[in-house]
Amino acid sequence: VTTFKGKSVALFGLGGSGLATAMALAAGGANVTAWDDNPASVENASTAGIRTADLRTLDWKGIDALVLSPGVPLTHPKPHWSADLARAAGVEIIGDVELFVRERRAQAPDCPFIAITGTNGKSTTTALIAHILRASGRDTQLGGNIGTAVLTLDPPKAGRFYVVECSSYQIDLAPTLNPSAGILLNLTPDHLDRHGTMQHYADVKERLVAGSRTAIVGVDDTFCAMIADRIERAGTKVVRISRRNVVADGIHADGSRLLLAQGGTSREIADLSAIQTLRGSHNAQNAAAAVAACLAVGLGETEIRAGLASFPGLKHRMQPVGRKGDALFVNDSKATNADAAAPALSSFERIYWIAGGVPKEGGISTLGGFFPRIAKAYLIGEAAPAFAATLGEAVPFEIAGTLERAVADAAADAERDGGGPVAVLLSPACASFDQYKNFEVRGDAFVKHVAALPGVSMLVE
Ligand code: ADP
Repeated sequence: VTTFKGKSVALFGLGGSGLATAMALAAGGANVTAWDDNPASVENASTAGIRTADLRTLDWKGIDALVLSPGVPLTHPKPHWSADLARAAGVEIIGDVELFVRERRAQAPDCPFIAITGTNGKSTTTALIAHILRASGRDTQLGGNIGTAVLTLDPPKAGRFYVVECSSYQIDLAPTLNPSAGILLNLTPDHLDRHGTMQHYADVKERLVAGSRTAIVGVDDTFCAMIADRIERAGTKVVRISRRNVVADGIHADGSRLLLAQGGTSREIADLSAIQTLRGSHNAQNAAAAVAACLAVGLGETEIRAGLASFPGLKHRMQPVGRKGDALFVNDSKATNADAAAPALSSFERIYWIAGGVPKEGGISTLGGFFPRIAKAYLIGEAAPAFAATLGEAVPFEIAGTLERAVADAAADAERDGGGPVAVLLSPACASFDQYKNFEVRGDAFVKHVAALPGVSMLVE
């Protein structure tokens, strides 16, 4: 990035995207001094050729900006000491997304830039939009909170599309975000440790859409509905999204059909019913937002429908991985608590459910409404006895212990089912640490065990 060429930048936070950001600034001619509380990260940055020094020893009068890594507290629970130093010296505090948007403004202000935020569904929606754009032949860069640091993407140029997932942290550090299309999917209490109150969390998310040329807002929760009204009154063009209710101007779902409403009439714009990777009403919300964003940046309806239909899904999130007879094997390893397992349990009619691991507070007591859909549960890991007690007489279960045994037993029972389509679903409602390093490793193990079943046809590598 060249926007700080010849200027002095202090950077704190060298884990994750921080080092990539420091390198991008230095490569663009900025005079960067970086630091981290973790000596190993400092060492690593020095080795990569970045100048490191404790930022407390700098003369802050000569510094033009403090760049913070996402996750370094700006305000709550209390500002990081580097933010205090910057504020005291009147130095602006920004993050990597802000560096990206300034670079875009300087190099190619018209290149389409879609920014996505919300409590749930960010990664799915981001990946879906990038997929539709790529499938239609657009030069597309995908990054941000979803994994690839924005400053490691190819640089802005005319005709290049950017799809960037933004966490609240990143929005907080991007005062001039202003995307071509901004999406706010939903807001539920989350990350309040960092943002203090729901109101502050909502205010941060509101900034992303308030500054968008087209604001796409999911209006199924009260916070988002209020935000849509407020920014519209202030003059922003708003497209409303709903997974349940008819909206006046926007896109709403009627079951698995997406309807585009404009000027008092509505018509079908896409039908998701045959798309395995977009099952469930939560995905109708994600898909509706993706369609709205693609329309906003000029795609045609036919290419949007083609992109939806070929979406491969995201790994570990209700991902169809294999098929055997009437059984569809689904990897939802990302569901590390009961709330996260609910969308998958609501998306299939008859389920052979693999659950367990390290349980969260409350276990699976909130999932009782889905028990009638569960043909049998296969319990693994530490949570097995507690989950067995919750299932009680309501749902047949076995203590399978390991994932391997659970997959084998569930597959055998599903084959004997004979009642039409069923899902063999790993949606553990638990963390993985008792048996696996993380949810990704757990999901990969599930795929491996499914692939080892005789006669299965795999839908993934
Ligand atoms: P994020 O990036 O916001 O964490 P993901 O797209 O990775 O979200 O989805 C994570 C999980 O959240 C999914 O497996 C699903 O259980 C749930 N989810 C996805 N989309 C939505 C949505 N629109 N509303 C509510 N829950 C959702």
